[in-house]
Amino acid sequence: MPARLNLVILGKQGAGKGTQCKRLASIYALPHVSTGDILRAAVKAGTPLGREVASVLEAGALVSDDLVIKLVEERLEEPDARKGALLDGFPRTLAQAEALERLLGGDGIKLCIDLEVPTGLVTERLSSRRVCQECGAIYRDSDIEAISGTCEKCGGDVIQRADDRPEAIRQRLEAYERDTEPLLAFYESRGLLASVNGDQSPDDVTDAIQAAVSARGLA
Ligand code: AMP
Repeated sequence: MPARLNLVILGKQGAGKGTQCKRLASIYALPHVSTGDILRAAVKAGTPLGREVASVLEAGALVSDDLVIKLVEERLEEPDARKGALLDGFPRTLAQAEALERLLGGDGIKLCIDLEVPTGLVTERLSSRRVCQECGAIYRDSDIEAISGTCEKCGGDVIQRADDRPEAIRQRLEAYERDTEPLLAFYESRGLLASVNGDQSPDDVTDAIQAAVSARGLA
């Protein structure tokens, strides 16, 4: 493996970025850096950052570029990110993508995977998604009765994320189309884009991502 393997995982909300990043983190021994997870943890802990962004997250809007860029910069300076990272939910705007290039310098991004899933399907996945408040395990609304609303992995409460409610889903998908889709052309023009069909089983998606990584001699 080269000295640093920085992979950007792009895709609409609900495309399976978090699920795939967890798998890839263990396959490639890289940290999973999810700006959404960092921001949600800050909201839950009630830190000054959390109080600043809580209403933005709830509405499904984007927090400011400066704020997330600083968060990612700090996170990528941590020792575990020296050999690279899996970036999930960042960059999300052109300004963030340009800032990331500046941050990583010559080492740069090795590959950007776009997880392609039709809008109708992600809307369905997001509306039925339920998550454990403690460990982040993902369930579907149809599982809730069987598990009595309690996470099978850690015993935490399984809830619906505020931003998985219909109006917030609409906002988030609109923001994706407007602010994040232009990143596909950005990475394509640098020869760094690999599109993967995200509408298949999680195992098949992981295999397709690994194939794209190996095809470029990255691991
Ligand atoms: P996610 O879990 O990636 O869907 O992120 C949840 C929420 O966190 C988003 O709806 C935004 O409010 C915020 N967020 C996460 N990543 C970013 C980012 N790169 N830029 C701006 N806002 C972000």
